[in-house]
Amino acid sequence: MDKKPKISIVVPVYNEESLVEELVSRLKSVCDGLNRSYEIVIVDDGSDDGSFEKLKRIKETDEALRLIRLTRNFGQQSAVLAGFRMSQGDIVVQLDSDLQNPPEEIPKLLTALTDDIDLVTTVHKKRQDGLLRVIGSKFLRGFGQMLFGESVKLNLSSFRAMRRSVIDKIETCRDRSRYMAVLMSWMGLPSVEIEVEHHARKKGETKYSFLTLFKLSWDLVTGYSSFPLRLVTYMGLFGAFMGFLMMAFLLYQRIANGILIEGFVVLSAVFAFFAGVQLLSIGFLGEYLGRVHSQIQGRPDYIVEKVMD
Ligand code: UDP
Ligand code: MG
Repeated sequence: MDKKPKISIVVPVYNEESLVEELVSRLKSVCDGLNRSYEIVIVDDGSDDGSFEKLKRIKETDEALRLIRLTRNFGQQSAVLAGFRMSQGDIVVQLDSDLQNPPEEIPKLLTALTDDIDLVTTVHKKRQDGLLRVIGSKFLRGFGQMLFGESVKLNLSSFRAMRRSVIDKIETCRDRSRYMAVLMSWMGLPSVEIEVEHHARKKGETKYSFLTLFKLSWDLVTGYSSFPLRLVTYMGLFGAFMGFLMMAFLLYQRIANGILIEGFVVLSAVFAFFAGVQLLSIGFLGEYLGRVHSQIQGRPDYIVEKVMD
């Protein structure tokens, strides 16, 4: 075996029964061509469609494959984290299991990972996804970029190559919601972005509905910024200012013109508005309280059912 660093390929799998065979065989033929020692770490994120049974069968005849199964579905980010922790290579490549990130592009990523670079991220030449999925992603990215500002260059692609040091740095982030791509972007590591092909999903369907993406955006907002709390302050300021203006107006009418305004409808509208703002504000506070609560509980990100080395 040569002395070049060992490469780990980390892949999260959730209900991809129809694709796992092709996935492993394509990954293997690409990796065999690399001329370096490698391992393929597949994390089964609680699939209930027979993906794991299939993977187990493949694993019986395959030394390079390492399998880890989580007890239930913990979500892509947790599955990837589990894979990162299990991987042993000096260089780690992360990709999706649905073959939308073509394994044949892996050598390109590795070439881009030169001595001065710690992280290689990707952009798609042409994204082959449904319209809603693409819009959802654009929304998530645009929103995230707005929150982080110009100093952080956000890349949320799940196809990337990195040095082991990047994973060590991720471990130092004690966040409850470990959105890998966000943390990696936030760290501002020496990185390059390269263009890769993107293929349409041949089988199965995306696990990210618009609602899921919306939840993810919300998680992004409350997990990585205090923008909503600041918004509450602004709304409070605005409310107080409006109230002050209204009082001044009413007093002026009473004293200068002798008019007593009776406006039940106006009053109801104003009341409804401020009641709404207050409830919303309490909601925002509750959201962060919930986060503090779950951070204090300090539960692990996932539970491993078994590991097959
Ligand atoms: N995935 C996972 N756990 C989940 C959802 C998805 O491990 O709860 C995996 C899935 O098997 C795939 C990757 O994450 O390998 C990306 O999922 P998908 O292709 O559905 O997302 P999209 O391509 O629409 O971003
Ligand atoms: Mg996909």
